Amino acid sequence: MGSFDSDQRRRLSVGDLRYLAASTADIVMMAALLFTCPITRMRVQHWLDDDEDASEDDYERVTCQACAGVHFVNRKGKVLGGDDE
Ligand SMILES: [Zn+2]
Repeated sequence: MGSFDSDQRRRLSVGDLRYLAASTADIVMMAALLFTCPITRMRVQHWLDDDEDASEDDYERVTCQACAGVHFVNRKGKVLGGDDE
């Protein structure tokens, strides 16, 4: 009985994931960048412009929502001058 329950739950979660993937398709087109502000150490989310030409190693000028300063962040979330290098 117990194993039947867990099997059913697993199948349900796979369906949920598929539904989630389909419903978030629009959001996936817009890349969100998550970086740590080197000033406040806060995690900041930044929505990237739809720029497909930019490489992952290009640093973008980002106006930080945590400290209102400007940081250079690449598409991997690495902050130029941050100490998590
Ligand atoms: Zn900042």
